[in-house]
Amino acid sequence: MARVFWFRRDLRLQDNVALNAAIDGAIADGDKKVCGLYAVNLKKFEALSGARQWSLHASLDSLGASMDRKLVIQHGEVPNSVSQTALAAGAKFVHATRAFDPDGIADQNAVGLELKKHDIFLQLDDSYYAVAPGTVRKPDGTPYRVYTPFFNNWFKAGWSAPVKLHKGFEWFEPIQCQGKPVPTKEAPFPIKAGEAYALRTWERFKQRALFNYDELRNRADLSGTSHLSHALAFGEIHPRTLLAELSDSDGHNVYRKEIAWREFYADVLLHNPDTTNEYYEPRFKSMRYDSGKTAEKKFEAWKTGNTGFPMVDAGMRQLLTTGWVHNRVRMIVASFLVKDLHLEWQLGAQWFEENLTDFDPASNAHGWQWTAGCGTDASPYYRIFNPIMQGYKFDPDGNFVRKFVPELAHIEGKDVHEPWLWVDGLANGYPAPIVDHSIEREESLKRLEEIKVKN
Ligand SMILES: Cc1cc2nc3c(=O)[nH]c(=O)nc-3n(C[C@H](O)[C@H](O)[C@H](O)COP(=O)(O)OP(=O)(O)OC[C@H]3O[C@@H](n4cnc5c(N)ncnc54)[C@H](O)[C@@H]3O)c2cc1C
Repeated sequence: MARVFWFRRDLRLQDNVALNAAIDGAIADGDKKVCGLYAVNLKKFEALSGARQWSLHASLDSLGASMDRKLVIQHGEVPNSVSQTALAAGAKFVHATRAFDPDGIADQNAVGLELKKHDIFLQLDDSYYAVAPGTVRKPDGTPYRVYTPFFNNWFKAGWSAPVKLHKGFEWFEPIQCQGKPVPTKEAPFPIKAGEAYALRTWERFKQRALFNYDELRNRADLSGTSHLSHALAFGEIHPRTLLAELSDSDGHNVYRKEIAWREFYADVLLHNPDTTNEYYEPRFKSMRYDSGKTAEKKFEAWKTGNTGFPMVDAGMRQLLTTGWVHNRVRMIVASFLVKDLHLEWQLGAQWFEENLTDFDPASNAHGWQWTAGCGTDASPYYRIFNPIMQGYKFDPDGNFVRKFVPELAHIEGKDVHEPWLWVDGLANGYPAPIVDHSIEREESLKRLEEIKVKN
């Protein structure tokens, strides 16, 4: 009997445990046929930004090519698409990778219920992580709220070796493919994606920067990180594949720790499913945040990269022109939105969700909450990034700023971080700072004190 494999955020063939389970099942059943399905809800697809629409398009194109163009794509409500395909295939089993985020769980529950009506079983295996969220617990059985002890126990839990695609089956299309969803918006830049591209990116990163990742990963002006976040978010590569090649050198250890942040946030979200939008530390909900016309104007300046703070603006323009932002810069722009402009983190997280091609519900929400101070940051003090000093430190020659802010291209070296100090600094239309950082820093601390008193 044929099996259906429902591709989700695991758009790859290698190191795909759940896909291998479908193949093994089809072989055991005797007819060796597997239908690979991707189900897309067009309404949700059309609501995505151009960058995100085209990046899914590129991922599906690559996946289809690796399956001899036998990927079946169905448009409509996901449970309906999966059950119609399973019925057409005469399958009694649909296989998929188990999701642990709120939307993923809701989807798999709805699909499971729909299939049950037709006596078809949804078999969920593995996860998008090396260690499935929910596995690592404190000795008393409760989940971790702090990263470092989580990391230590995550590392102890360990993971299995990557697996190759099982052989001895054939793809088949029991139902007509409705084609890749057609993007309704322009891509602001050329987008490459897919499993083969992810594996090439990993190979290049190993040659280029992995060995001194510990030293260079924070430099915004250098290509010192792997740029694998999109591939990990969409499962074009599994973290097992990366972890299996790491030794215990300094660079490799720090890279493993970054992979573990992704796993930590997935675990935190599993145990706190409302934190994609709600405060992880509830007392921050009662903090004073700005709203109204002036706040809206400031938000607009932040979104478009026109705050007058070069490092913040370069980051926000990096987002709009590449769909990706360096991790250090994500922290700088997020801190600025919350602690200098006094806006709620959810506004920034929503803008990131719309524009990041590596959008991940757990890493985005908790990256924001960590920076806003209402998340899992274990630091005893309230971090407020100085957007100017961060520029001097992590873009020491000013190359990152000049690359994304052409109005500042005429200023040489690190001087680009304070253009207002130079006679011709703002000559090309770059704005003066919209706020005074030292005043807003004090204001932010004052608002923090208010909630400490209240709570
Ligand atoms: C405000 C904010 C929002 C963020 N939103 C997202 C998001 O939507 N999607 C996303 O994948 N990452 C997000 N991150 C985490 C991080 O910025 C990106 O994963 C990283 O910049 C991706 O670049 P890279 O692949 O070159 O990372 P590398 O430095 O090469 O790291 C390797 C991988 O480890 C993981 N990783 C690294 N740092 C972190 C981190 N701090 N938190 C979680 N995972 C991490 C990523 O999967 C990354 O691809 C966010 C961080 C912040 C501060």
